[in-house]
Amino acid sequence: MKVLLVEDEKKSAAFIGKGLREHGFVVDVAGSGDDGLALACMGEYDILVLDVMLPGRDGWSVLTELRQKGIQVPTLFLTARDGVNDRVKGLELGADDYLPKPFAFTELLARMRTILRRGPVRRSNLVKVGDLELEPSRMSAVRAGVRLDLTPKEFVLLHLMARRQGEVLSRPYIAEQVWDMNFDGESNVVDVHIRRLRTKVDDPFPRRLIHTVRGVGYVLDDRP
Ligand code: CA
Repeated sequence: MKVLLVEDEKKSAAFIGKGLREHGFVVDVAGSGDDGLALACMGEYDILVLDVMLPGRDGWSVLTELRQKGIQVPTLFLTARDGVNDRVKGLELGADDYLPKPFAFTELLARMRTILRRGPVRRSNLVKVGDLELEPSRMSAVRAGVRLDLTPKEFVLLHLMARRQGEVLSRPYIAEQVWDMNFDGESNVVDVHIRRLRTKVDDPFPRRLIHTVRGVGYVLDDRP
């Protein structure tokens, strides 16, 4: 899942970004309200984590602009202020939740998961490939009625392939999308994860969904 974090305090942004990546999220960071707004308008984010106090355009203004443009990305506000008025203001502007600083990372993660679970945007994002069904809001993968036990990274990888079903995805593309890393050609991280994924997604079932395209990459496809 893709997160846009808008936070001008570098230390805080680095800490939150690292934690979220470790939990399987792909994270983009913006250091100002204007940058955040521009990214949010372009990118397809599953959730926005938005600091209120930002240089230039503040968090309220970012959210107001987004909603005016019809962009309904679920949003969690971060703020030093804990006043009831601020909370109400955030929710009235269309934020999904509000987390006063300082907060524990686990608390942020729990709030984000709650938002992602209930978000109307997410609920409609069920992805199907043959008898495989992925529901990102619950990190749920079910094949032929059997729940698959995937790690967050495996889920992200499978979800990427499912959204792009039928398209051959190159290793560099997968590495960038799932691990946020530049693929150096030496790393076998993609192959290792595909192998693990196959033991869960394909091995127990008669029909294979994950196919190797030699010299190119991988494709998820329900084809004979
Ligand atoms: Ca700030």
